[in-house]
Amino acid sequence: MSQEKNAGLIPIAFVGAGPGDPELLTLKGRRLLDSADLVVYAGSLVNPALLTGIAAQCHDSAGLDLTAIMDLMIPACRAGKRVVRLHTGDPALYGAIREQMQWLDREKLPYEVVPGVSSAFAAAATLRRELTVPEQTQTVILTRQAGRTPVPEREALPKLAAIGASMCIFLSVAMIKEVVADLLAGGYAPSTPVAVVEKASWPDERILRGTLADITTQVVAADIRKTAMIVVGPALDDASQAASRLYAEDFSHGCR
Ligand code: SAH
Repeated sequence: MSQEKNAGLIPIAFVGAGPGDPELLTLKGRRLLDSADLVVYAGSLVNPALLTGIAAQCHDSAGLDLTAIMDLMIPACRAGKRVVRLHTGDPALYGAIREQMQWLDREKLPYEVVPGVSSAFAAAATLRRELTVPEQTQTVILTRQAGRTPVPEREALPKLAAIGASMCIFLSVAMIKEVVADLLAGGYAPSTPVAVVEKASWPDERILRGTLADITTQVVAADIRKTAMIVVGPALDDASQAASRLYAEDFSHGCR
């Protein structure tokens, strides 16, 4: 299909749905959903409340493979319809959007990506913590434990833990025992603060706070197995009084 033939088609919008709370969807995402003809959403994590009252035909992608998803979206796009592909959190993280975008590139079909609030940041908000605390860490690592999807050896959790930064660990709560063992092996002390936030920003959100010494017992007792963020690192320790220089009286105001 030639580029010219596709000119004028409405770009397929990959939209970040945010972590769950419908108010944590961007205004742009809301507008695109409200005007969509077809919405293909990741039903295992996207809050269905986001779809209430919209006119679009909605398909849950949970049971579909990549070909089936593209077979829904491509003909609709070619027919001039407004198509939204709704992914949880921010689509750039563990969204598997790359293969969809590459497929659209091959078909020379237009698309755009609309960011969303990642569950990493929803979890930090729930915990009321800043992940970058002066003199403790100025780095946040977004990662996962290797599971069905392998993780390159150079990014194995013990290696990342050795940095001592704040870490948001996705897709791994079912392997909490291995996660804790890896973090300890990497050099985090057993007293390092860690939190697990299940369903951040949902009405039934749950929070566990502890240390690497006791979080596994807490997760097992609470029976948390999925849709949870593990946040770990010294920045979670609110006993520290280290303050940013940004709002210090003698700091130039240009960056505030
Ligand atoms: N793109 C998404 C991540 C998709 S991978 C984002 O930016 O958030 C799915 C993983 O994200 C889950 O296993 C869990 O670790 C995390 N996750 C998604 N929604 C969550 C929520 N509301 N609360 C806590 N963790 C969540």
